[in-house]
Amino acid sequence: MKVAQNAVVVIDYTLKDNAGEVIDSSEGAGPLAYLHGAGNIVEGLEEALEGQEAGAEVHASIEPAKAYGERHEDMKQDVPKELFGGVENIEQGMQFQSETEQGPVLVTVVQVTDEMVTVDGNHPLAGVHLNFDVTVREVREATAEELEHGHVHGEGGQPQ
Ligand code: ZN
Repeated sequence: MKVAQNAVVVIDYTLKDNAGEVIDSSEGAGPLAYLHGAGNIVEGLEEALEGQEAGAEVHASIEPAKAYGERHEDMKQDVPKELFGGVENIEQGMQFQSETEQGPVLVTVVQVTDEMVTVDGNHPLAGVHLNFDVTVREVREATAEELEHGHVHGEGGQPQ
């Protein structure tokens, strides 16, 4: 069976940036199972896997526009430290949920001074070129329930 819309695809993968640093990998965590065409994985990787079969080894080089988007410098913001009232020891790298007019956004602390905290609402992988090495382990039909939920159940997928 070939990878196509609504197929369940099970993959091993390693993800590197352009410097060759490993960003993420299924090694240790076990293979990833996703529902093809449901937006479970980034668009560029779905395109690269379309039409592949079990056993295929795929290298995909994906520009930010088809991954986590470009970085937007205007999503960086200085916030007075006192607004973090309840939080002691704010440090670089901490993440907070921020309420915005567009809904909740996950922001990352990128700088802390005595009075101000600089937070960045970009996805940590925004602006990053993604290089995937993927091995397709299995391609199968999705169950009716998986299609209804928009994700895969069981190993490598969601518990329910
Ligand atoms: Zn489910």
